[in-house]
Amino acid sequence: MLRAGIVGLPNVGKSTLFNAVVANAKAQAANYPFCTIEPNVGMVAVPDDRLKVLAEISGSAEILAARVEFVDIAGLVKGASQGEGLGNQFLANIREVDAIVHVVRCFEDDDVIHVSGSVDPVRDIEVINIELGLADLDQVERRVERARKQARTSKEAQIETAALEKLIPVLNEGKPARQVSLTDEEEALIKPLGLLTRKPIIYATNVSEDDLAAGNAWVEQVRTLAAEEKAQVVVVSAQVESELVELPESDRTDFLESLGVEEGGLKSLIRATYELLGLRTYFTTGPKETRAWTIHAGMVAPQAAGVIHTDFERGFIRAETVAYTDLVTTGSMAGAKEKGLVRSEGKEYVVQEGDVLLFRFNV
Ligand code: GDP
Repeated sequence: MLRAGIVGLPNVGKSTLFNAVVANAKAQAANYPFCTIEPNVGMVAVPDDRLKVLAEISGSAEILAARVEFVDIAGLVKGASQGEGLGNQFLANIREVDAIVHVVRCFEDDDVIHVSGSVDPVRDIEVINIELGLADLDQVERRVERARKQARTSKEAQIETAALEKLIPVLNEGKPARQVSLTDEEEALIKPLGLLTRKPIIYATNVSEDDLAAGNAWVEQVRTLAAEEKAQVVVVSAQVESELVELPESDRTDFLESLGVEEGGLKSLIRATYELLGLRTYFTTGPKETRAWTIHAGMVAPQAAGVIHTDFERGFIRAETVAYTDLVTTGSMAGAKEKGLVRSEGKEYVVQEGDVLLFRFNV
């Protein structure tokens, strides 16, 4: 499953946002009897309107959305790369995530102390990015020593050395490793390092409820910075999200309407994280359940089946396939079949976004 790590300076709203994520996860927990949620891991459903439509067509008893895991990575402070705060342990936690959600404070509140004394998201982002970059530089410099030695006898180590030597000057300039272009082979060789500044990143600008609809000048500053880094920006209000989970569902729409928005930003954040990683959704649907499954772009049918169960991949025979839109237009599986819109696809078929699949397999 996809894991996103929430990072940011203290007092920017990480825990508030994370607690809203966890509360959402708890509300859905009935649907996920097999997942235990660790104290700092929350699970959220990826919002997808297509699920309801499919469930109606199939008369499904249950709907199961795709999920993203959020990990609260507390403890990043200035000096973390030198072991300040939770330091290295903190950094080890981030190496394992697929994407980083960097929460930045874009709200004013005299009652909430800012670690650097004033609200300045661009400065805050730099503080964190410098720590992450220094940690990467340390990692890369240590690795290159060994790779150079191994390069005398190993072709792979030569390629890795070349990759590391491209990364060092960029990191030395204080820029993220993301900015370096590497070949697929180089990329694969440096992957085990888990470089923090090479992970895809989203800046979650945490605004007050009044700024949720229109944003504010701080958000614009973050947008400018993110555009240079080719990173994404999502506007969110941790406060609104935490209030929403307290409200009965029937009152939520009114509350959001009073703020002039459709949601508190968490949904957009989840979707953006999903898209950032090049993820795709396919569906399975029947009377028991309609369910969304997450795959990477380019996966072939047996790999997609493997997401459900490894047996499905091993024993894969064919996938009965219909596009979501074709199924919805015809209104039923039988209708889609009559019109010849249900195809039988084999091992080479690249699963498309929104495919509705039924796997045939040997056990
Ligand atoms: P963390 O240290 O980044 O995890 O920050 P917290 O989530 O603990 O938030 C720090 C303080 O800021 C808490 O008192 C929150 O209630 C408050 N806070 C968080 N988000 C907002 C917000 O959007 N607006 C306002 N006014 N306060 C917020």
